[in-house]
Amino acid sequence: MSERRETGDPAAPANTTRTGGNRAGGNRAGAHDAVSGGRGAVSGRGRARRDEAVSRRGRARGDEAVSGGDRAVSGAPAYEGKPVADRLCDDDGRLRRQAALALAALAAVLLAVAGLTTPWTTPWTTLAAAPPDPSRDFSAAEIARSRAFDAATSLPGHLSLALTLLVAAVLIATPLGARAVERLRGPWWLRVVCGVVVVSAFTTLVRWPLGMWFETILRAYGLSTQDWASWTGDRLKNAAVETFLLCLALVVLVALARRVRRWWIPAAAGAFVLTVAASFVYPVVFEPMFNDFTPMREGPLRADLLAMAARDGVPVRDVLVADASRRTTALNAYVSGFGATRRIVVHDTLLRAPRQEVALVVAHELGHAERDDVLHGTIVAALGSALGAVLLFLVFEAVRRRAGVGSIADPRAVGAVIGLMSLGALLLGPVENVVSRQVEARADLHALELTRDPATFVAMQRRFAVANISDLSPDAVEYVLYASHPSGPERIATARAWARLNGVPVP
Ligand SMILES: [Zn+2]
Repeated sequence: MSERRETGDPAAPANTTRTGGNRAGGNRAGAHDAVSGGRGAVSGRGRARRDEAVSRRGRARGDEAVSGGDRAVSGAPAYEGKPVADRLCDDDGRLRRQAALALAALAAVLLAVAGLTTPWTTPWTTLAAAPPDPSRDFSAAEIARSRAFDAATSLPGHLSLALTLLVAAVLIATPLGARAVERLRGPWWLRVVCGVVVVSAFTTLVRWPLGMWFETILRAYGLSTQDWASWTGDRLKNAAVETFLLCLALVVLVALARRVRRWWIPAAAGAFVLTVAASFVYPVVFEPMFNDFTPMREGPLRADLLAMAARDGVPVRDVLVADASRRTTALNAYVSGFGATRRIVVHDTLLRAPRQEVALVVAHELGHAERDDVLHGTIVAALGSALGAVLLFLVFEAVRRRAGVGSIADPRAVGAVIGLMSLGALLLGPVENVVSRQVEARADLHALELTRDPATFVAMQRRFAVANISDLSPDAVEYVLYASHPSGPERIATARAWARLNGVPVP
């Protein structure tokens, strides 16, 4: 998902559900997709048994020796009636059929869970009777500014997407990734780690100019408050977190592939666990690396918010304030974590808004909390990761020759695996957006029902759209690729439709 537009908010969490608009506040930075346990990421624990034997053989006989997994490596004993090669082929076919079955089963479970937890019936499109009209709520100058910002960011946005595709294609379809790693020496796990570092460093480097371009635009529009030193620090920290998680996932993946023929089974289980664990610890491990969080100061606002949460029946111990103003002027709030780590966070930039508007933002977040949107999103993402691990087993055969590697057990395969992961994340982005927009619309309805105050809701949406320079009328491509939330005018239209339906004065 690093193909999303660059953002001024590198700490933007992945497994959070946000109020923020489509752009400056709402987009997510690449690293955090890895934090959320990127698709295809794997976990688990491999023992260092037989490692050296495998790697010696791998070196002696070339990649093919490793490709069949344990049995091939240990030299399959002849078996009655069929040559060894045929038998291995039969075995491979059987393994692939089993994996394909598992893939189908996982896909069915994933669709069922996503289908059941997504509010497909949230009537936000039908609620908004007419197509939203930005000119009703936004001045000509505001609309022009939004269009200009959109025009300025379109090119780097699309280039970023193209670059992600290009890098993935090179890693998957050419042996360049393998060549970069084959110079490395040492035990297999060290070559995996160094390989991930080399590939990540390369991607970070090629994306750097685009990032600077985007940051320059954010500054020109007054959305960024960072200097280059802190921007660089953020970016490097992001890259470090992403690389660390990729190293963890790939060392485990290669370890499994080196000793288990059906490695996709533990890999899928590990990917599931790693995704859930990463999302659970996200608020307490990763978020504090980028922002300071302080409990909201005692006062009427805090008292209002906690009283509203109590009225809503959502247990909230505290509302945290993030020092987002150190890098952005954009407004935002989100829920992250689940269970013991669940928290509602508002950006300090939001606290200048009138108290009722902040309350409406928090009411939206309470909607996420009440419906456990983060937990459900995490489970869906974890199932997606498990599915990615099985898919990796199935598709790797098709790419390994082009990528110039014998099997996934070969440390030189890390480039191709990273390429496939990044391609998978890219293709899933639009699907995630479809689900996300429904979930966000439900949280909006929750806020309206809890506060019964559509006028303040409209004022709050206006404030967000103007402060974050949201796209007021995204075209179809932008909507599909980037819109994790309905647009500001759509949300305003929903509030008006809600007011009409509920006999409340229409703002
Ligand atoms: Zn939200």
